[in-house]
Amino acid sequence: MKKNNYTHGDWNVVCQRCQKQLKASQIKKEWTGLLVGPECFELRHPQDFVKGKPDPQRVPYSNEPSGDPTSNSQTPFDPDTDSIWQSVPQ
Ligand SMILES: [Zn+2]
Repeated sequence: MKKNNYTHGDWNVVCQRCQKQLKASQIKKEWTGLLVGPECFELRHPQDFVKGKPDPQRVPYSNEPSGDPTSNSQTPFDPDTDSIWQSVPQ
């Protein structure tokens, strides 16, 4: 195609990436917003559309013991009185 030929209803446009003169019917708008020719046109990479998938880590349900789960009903271990050897008959 000649550079400055006349085509009815078409006009000259410069590619915004390579500065090549083209006709407006050949120009496409890229996802970046640039008006580029067919040689410079690039699709957006599919990885740009990947979204994160929720991954809940907690259990679906649990069977907690009744009562206040924050209270500590057990006495702390005392080595003088709570020895396991005291329960062994001598
Ligand atoms: Zn171009």
